[in-house]
Amino acid sequence: MTISDTHRLEGDGVIYKESPNHGGAFSADLPDTIIIHYTAGASAESAVKTLCDPRMKVSAHLVIGRDGAITQLVPFDTVAWHAGKSSYKGRVGFNKYAIGIEVDNAGRLTKSGDEYVAWFGRAYPEKEVVEAVHRVDSPSIGLNRPNESEPSYWHRYTEKQIALVQEVCVELMDAYEISSILGHEEIAPQRKTDPGPAFPLDTLRERVLYRDRADEGPEKSPPVRHPGMVTASRLNIRSGPMRSAAPIAPPLSQGTMVEIVQESNGWLEVQVQTRGWVKKEYIKT
Ligand SMILES: [Zn+2]
Repeated sequence: MTISDTHRLEGDGVIYKESPNHGGAFSADLPDTIIIHYTAGASAESAVKTLCDPRMKVSAHLVIGRDGAITQLVPFDTVAWHAGKSSYKGRVGFNKYAIGIEVDNAGRLTKSGDEYVAWFGRAYPEKEVVEAVHRVDSPSIGLNRPNESEPSYWHRYTEKQIALVQEVCVELMDAYEISSILGHEEIAPQRKTDPGPAFPLDTLRERVLYRDRADEGPEKSPPVRHPGMVTASRLNIRSGPMRSAAPIAPPLSQGTMVEIVQESNGWLEVQVQTRGWVKKEYIKT
């Protein structure tokens, strides 16, 4: 995958379909931010249709389908209309700063019997659902202060999508002076919940923005991490996968979201702010 001199993504499975919904060229030294979104829709095709409809006045640079197909709608040197009313750390109106990536995902789901239903009526099976508390680390909410306290249901992203978002972000960082990756929910926390807790945004930032300081070389593709949620009221996090291993931090509290790194003999290695081992039976994935 590469980015051409004409600011287009090129590679297998990438198509270009220009949207009429865009502004002018970015100012000098911009874009410097990537905003991650979910489409909250039924398919990548329906999202592309909406984002190319001149009456809708919305767009994004990329739409990433569940099967990994990528559609580019606006060149990367041109302002797209995906952020809306938004602010973060003193900046207002992120369209003029940011590349927008839309990931095909139905968003928050409502449980109905054995099914999980999207706002547009489609039901999804349990294996496509993540149960998680929606939290936003945004200066306008307060760092690490949850804006929801109860878990809810979210459409799972495909591993292909998570891997491709990362791959695209690495390419964008090489081509432009990208210094931050944010969720739409972080720049518009009062009105947006995308990409939501099913998307591993912290892992993406750690792996893409800080990849030079990671142990692995930049060429090595890092593993995809799925989220999990602590179900025990207090869960010890240990230095190894056994009860005799020492706790490495205060216990995790109920509802804490973790990213699962690996599994071993009934234990999961998870990443929170620190990495350690917890009993598997107390993590809902
Ligand atoms: Zn959004």
